[in-house]
Amino acid sequence: MTSHETSPSRVLVIYTGGTIGSVQDASGGLVPIDFNEIHRHVPELEQPNREIEIISFDPPLDSSNVSTKEWVELAQAVKHHYADFDGFVILHGTDTLAYTASALSFMLEGLRKPVIITGSQLPIGLPRTDGRENLLAAVDIATAQRFNEPIVQEVAVYFGSFLFRGNRSHKASAESMQAIISPNLPALAEAGVDILYNESLMYRDEIKTFHVNVALDNQVAWLPLFPGQPLEVIKRLLDWPDMRGLVLSTFGSGNAPSNPDLKSILTAAHDRGISILNVTQCGHGAVHPERYATAHLLRDCGVIPGGDMTTEAAITKLMACLGRGLTGEEARNFMARNVRGELTGFSPLT
Ligand code: ASP
Repeated sequence: MTSHETSPSRVLVIYTGGTIGSVQDASGGLVPIDFNEIHRHVPELEQPNREIEIISFDPPLDSSNVSTKEWVELAQAVKHHYADFDGFVILHGTDTLAYTASALSFMLEGLRKPVIITGSQLPIGLPRTDGRENLLAAVDIATAQRFNEPIVQEVAVYFGSFLFRGNRSHKASAESMQAIISPNLPALAEAGVDILYNESLMYRDEIKTFHVNVALDNQVAWLPLFPGQPLEVIKRLLDWPDMRGLVLSTFGSGNAPSNPDLKSILTAAHDRGISILNVTQCGHGAVHPERYATAHLLRDCGVIPGGDMTTEAAITKLMACLGRGLTGEEARNFMARNVRGELTGFSPLT
């Protein structure tokens, strides 16, 4: 290589499964195929200025079968190959993609390279597939640099025409080609003729050394409230002896029924050391514990306000928080704090 030539960018593609690499089986159901098949459908992946290496889950998984074990495998794969690649692309089914993106964002600390997760609504072999464009754009983003450093240095999701922060992403449609959205944060980039980056929104981790934290505690639950809900169900759930954390999806800006029995159940759980997080069940917006009297009950029970976190971010952050052994005030501060760009500002612990 002569001195004016630059070395090619190196991208590691990790294929986990999902519709992007599926074909129809005899019964008409979609089953995952080998990644080499995908590669055959997208020869444009090969470019003179970049090198792509592919590793694959064996067997590839529908993302409904992805669990904490696979999150740990993905985090460890990034760690293992971190020094050898400029960027990472993870191909993933769309169903639980937002959970994986959120979990990885909390597991990968001090990230200085792009980890771009994508998938598709239609298999890559079909004429109308969205998989080709999603894959090619994700690889472009994984190699994009400005002033000799990666533009994206976080876990992000490319889908449709947009790049979103991973822990802000949410699957909003089982039909639209824009299946994944970011309800509470604008896109980090939009792909049109060019890929236009919103550089002022890019996350830069204050932690300087790359480190992978694989400790996750899944002894958590997620409970949406609804009018007429039997309190006995909430009580029994919280009485599970192993329960360590609960994400409570409340009404509007963080409200719950003003019921003294609910108050006693939640207070007793809080006093037993269960971390309870309040997020809104609305598709957009944040909890504001100070706004309505119906939110004061939760505040008075020690429930932690979750700001504008998505449910996916809330659940995976709680797993990461408890996995680190944080309890009581430490857990409260971790959950209410903006740890990896997952919430806007600081959730007021009023
Ligand atoms: N069931 C598939 C999955 O999540 C759907 C998809 O990939 O879009 O793996």
